[in-house]
Amino acid sequence: MSLSRNQLVGLLKVATAYDGRERGEADIYAWSDSAARAGWTYEEALEAVKEHFAFDGGFLTPAVVTKRITAQREARSRQQRVELYESRQAAIEGPARDVAPEPERIRSLVESVANSLGWQRIPKQKPEALSVECPHCHAAPGRPCARQLTRGHRRGEFVPLSTCHDSRIQASKRSAA
Ligand SMILES: [Zn+2]
Repeated sequence: MSLSRNQLVGLLKVATAYDGRERGEADIYAWSDSAARAGWTYEEALEAVKEHFAFDGGFLTPAVVTKRITAQREARSRQQRVELYESRQAAIEGPARDVAPEPERIRSLVESVANSLGWQRIPKQKPEALSVECPHCHAAPGRPCARQLTRGHRRGEFVPLSTCHDSRIQASKRSAA
């Protein structure tokens, strides 16, 4: 796999377009070796070179490209985990809308009793926290915080929590301020 000679030459020409440094056979050889060791794809490497000159500039080495590719891959897989979680949440919440889940039913029962007895209401805390994305578990706004199971046959699955992560509560306070 890795990059073909043509792709490497193209990549180095892009770099030269940015910094004006001419590259020769030695560069092609060195970059080819790094590309193979670090498992670059051409698209990733091209993106990394462009990002380097757009944001950092300076001397471009293969290590810089590798670091950017690694960071891109991690960001992508984080994003995929979030999307996977959200699609699972949607699958859980989707069907059986007409049947109220047990805690909901009990709450409305308690509420009607409380109303008939004229009880004082304690305001629910925490909806503010739900208005922002959780920086800890990346639950989207409006979604409950969740934790990922690390063992057992449901390993990797997300389980909604009844409380919010502290960092989310802090974040919502910051955004409200
Ligand atoms: Zn959270």
